[in-house]
Parts: sequence; structure tokens; C-alpha cells
Amino acid sequence: MPEARHHGRPAAPGFASGRVVTLDMAVAERRAGGDREQEMTALRAAVVKAVTELSALAAEADDDAAGILGFQIALLEDDALSEPAFAAIASGIPADAAWRDALDDEIAGYRAGEDETFHARAADLADLRDRVLDHLGAGAIAPDVTRGSIVAATDLPPSRFLAIDWRAGGAVLLSEGSRNSHVAMLARARGVPMIVGLGIDPIRLAGEALVDATCGELVLDPAPATRADFEARRRSHEHGATQAAIRIGDPAVTADGVAVAVHINVASPDELASLSPAICDGIGLVRTEFLFSGGSLPDEEAQYRVYRRLAEWSNGKPVTIRTLDAGGDKPVVGLTTAGESNPFLGVRGVRLSLSYPDVFAVQLRALARAACHGKVRIMLPMVTLPDELEAARALLDKEMAALRAAGVAAERPPLGIMVEVPAAALAIERFDAAFFSVGSNDLTQYVTAAGRDIAAVADLADPLNAAVLRLIRLVVEHGHASGREVSLCGDAGGDPAAIEALLRTGLRSLSVAPAALAATKAAIGRTDLGQ
Ligand code: PEP
Ligand code: MG
Repeated sequence: MPEARHHGRPAAPGFASGRVVTLDMAVAERRAGGDREQEMTALRAAVVKAVTELSALAAEADDDAAGILGFQIALLEDDALSEPAFAAIASGIPADAAWRDALDDEIAGYRAGEDETFHARAADLADLRDRVLDHLGAGAIAPDVTRGSIVAATDLPPSRFLAIDWRAGGAVLLSEGSRNSHVAMLARARGVPMIVGLGIDPIRLAGEALVDATCGELVLDPAPATRADFEARRRSHEHGATQAAIRIGDPAVTADGVAVAVHINVASPDELASLSPAICDGIGLVRTEFLFSGGSLPDEEAQYRVYRRLAEWSNGKPVTIRTLDAGGDKPVVGLTTAGESNPFLGVRGVRLSLSYPDVFAVQLRALARAACHGKVRIMLPMVTLPDELEAARALLDKEMAALRAAGVAAERPPLGIMVEVPAAALAIERFDAAFFSVGSNDLTQYVTAAGRDIAAVADLADPLNAAVLRLIRLVVEHGHASGREVSLCGDAGGDPAAIEALLRTGLRSLSVAPAALAATKAAIGRTDLGQ
């Protein structure tokens, strides 16, 4: 076969080479149907087996992955999902066909939507469909994924990703998918290179592959010269990563001596297990959404334990914990509004928290209690109006008073806001916040009117767009003038190609994914601001 090149979007950086294994599911022949009672019993048993299997995976998984699996289990246990299949069996359809048809209808509905949340739900449902089919003896053809395989699929549900042993390397190639999906986040956290949006039927991805997920390039059946060039780039990438990792504990300073604080973004305390607080200036963003994704809402005690763990890990350095940022692309079953025409412009972030004051109060109480164990700061997401900040402050005051009256140990954490809505950035002087943190992911999508998850407009959603940089500068200048800290915790902060432009806005504090910390510090060290 002649060499073939394909391009997609890098979703988790890194290099990999090896044979492609296509996971796309050609569903096997229909099982011959038994009688109706037998078919119903077979379906019930298959669903129970799938739940057991997912529960076993969840028990082994870390907090973020367990949350995703918990969500799938809740879906599978919901009678509404299987009702149409049982109705079809009652009318004489074999169990496997009934289940597949029912789930396919459901999946098609979700896939048809524009909304990325629905797309993510479609991938979760396809996984449930195939698991149950497996247990009905009519499973999708899922070839063995040997260690180190390059796995190709249309999209990959988190549970399939987690079931693969990535310790020997490998990579993921998705013809669809998005950088902001759950599975992409898991791939980045585990260092598995991933390219999304390749736009090619995964069945056509076969043979030997070279994957450069730093730039999103896939080469199939490479010529010897291409392979040699690839290996040279891989070595240089690995050398750079090793060099950066050696210096990860050094403070970040530009080539001309300007100090830059670099914090880390955390989605689950488990991510901190192998990290020392000495490598960073603190935690700049805790995404608390994962605490809420397990099917039931975490109570005050459960939240307090997690926040306390984070505070203690930080060893006196600041820990900025963001209140629940559900909604948009991050649904929370039972809390977020289903069916909004444009969830990114709907009830998300602090809007949602303020509309559920009882749920919000529990989080604020847990945060105030955790503040006795470290430098906890509270950050509100998606703030648009000063009134939202003031309403949150009033609720915090009320809960502080209640905690004190009850003799519960608590400290009042400083209250800051994310700047990710253009209305907040443009009128930043109206917000009496203790600190500001620029959410460049959302700020960029709202300024450029280009959805952060929509592959077709990804080039427009550029955090280095002059309009985005101008807003960041405005916020930084206000921070200097008013003596308030301004940081940036969007993904752009961890992109070496964006660092110089960001520092030129006057920013001197960034917060990045732990996996991006070494490369960020190295990029800062190479930057000369001419000062
Ligand atoms: C952002 O919008 O830049 C941000 C950090 O928040 P999230 O990506 O969680 O929306
Ligand atoms: Mg955001």
C-alpha cells in the first residue's frame, strides 16, 4: 500500500507507532429468537451483567472515571431506556434485535442534535448497547486490543477506553470526537496520544501507523524516509519532555528574568497522588463538576473531605476551588436543564448554582470548613453580572453565620470570579471580586461566536484572536490598577505556542493541567519579553 496521510485535531499530545485496530462495530447477525418469555429473561440478565461489569470497572477507577461510569450505570438502570425493547419483544422481536433497535433510535436522536452534550451521551449509549449485545451472545465485533495498539473508532466511550491497558503505549484515532470530550480528558490525564476529527471511516484505517498527536498527523503504511523523519521528531519530543521534566520544580522565569506563577488545574484529588506541591505555585482551578457526576449529589461531609484533602496537599499554597460549573457541555443528572436550545448560553455555572440555593449552600459550607486546613479560595464560574457575585457573597455570609452559630470550625475564603463571559471582561471594574481568573476556553468561544466543541469552527475559536487578547489585557490592567490578582486557567495557558502572547498582555500567573506543567515552564523560560 502506498503511504497515506490524514490530519485531525490533536486532543492528547504524544507520539505512537504500531498496527491499527479498528473498534468500530459491525453488529453480528441476529440471534435466532427463542420464545417471548425466554427473550425477556435473556435481556434482563444481559442488562444485569452489563451493570455488574461497569460497577467492577468503576470500583477500580479513579474519581473522575468512576463518575463517568456511574452515569452510565444510572442510564442502564433507568427503566425508560429498556421499555421500548421489552415492548418490541412482546410483539415477537428477538431480544438482541429489540435492544439494538431501541438503543439505535435513542442514539440517532442524540446524534442528530447540534449539542455536544448530546453527542457525548450518544457515545455512552452506544457503549451500553454493545455491552448488552455482548451478553446476549450477539455482541459487536470487538477485536482484541493488544497492549500498545493504535485504536481507531468513530468515537470511543470512556468505559471502552478505561478497559484497555495503555501501560505499554498506544494511541487513539477518532474519526469524530472532540478535544473536550470526557474520553479526551482521560487520554490527556493518562498520557495516551489522541487525534480526533480525522473525518475518515475508521474501517479504512488499517495497517502500520505513525501517530503524531502533537500536530494531529496520522501516516499509514509509511515510506522508510517518513518513518525516519517521524522517529527523529519523536526523539526530539521525548528529549524536550525529559529536559522539561527535570526542571519542573524550578520557578518559572522568562529569559529576561520576569517571574511567572504557574499553578495547576485539578479535576479530582486522585490526580495529585503522584505530584508534589513543590512543583507549582498552588492549585489555580479545581473543577468540582466531577464530584457531582456520580448520579447523586455529594453531601456536605463528602465535599468537605475532598476539599480538605486538596487544601492539605497544597501545604500552605493557595487552592482555588471553583463552585459547580454544570451545564453547557457538562450536564449533571437531576440538576441541569435538559433540552435547552443552546446550553452554552443557558443555565450553567453560577446561574445554575443560584437557581438551586440549597445545593449551592452545601458547597459553600463545605468550602468554608475546608478553609481551616489551607489557603482555600472560592471561585465562581460564568459570572455575567455583579449581582451574581453579590448574591453568592450574601449566601456565603449566611452560611458562615450559621456555621459559627452551630460552633462548626470554618474560615471565610476570599471570593473571586472567572472572567469567561465578555460582558464581565468588558465591565470588569464593576465586579468587587477578591481575584480574577480568565477562562480562556469559554471567553474565546463567546468572543468569536465559535463553539469550543465544534470541529468545523475550531480555527475560529482561537484564544490568540486579537479581540480575546485585548479583553485579557483589559482585565490584567484593571487587576494592576485595583491591586487584585489576575490569573488565567483556560487551556491556552498550557499551550507553549500561546505563552508569549499571553505574557505580553501583562499576565503573570497561569494555571495549567499537571501534564502541561513542565512544557509550560519551559516555554516561559524561552520567552523574552524585552524587559
Ligand atoms: C475556561 O472556560 O477556560 C475554563 C477554565 O473552564 P472550563 O474549561 O471548565 O469551562
Ligand atoms: Mg469555562
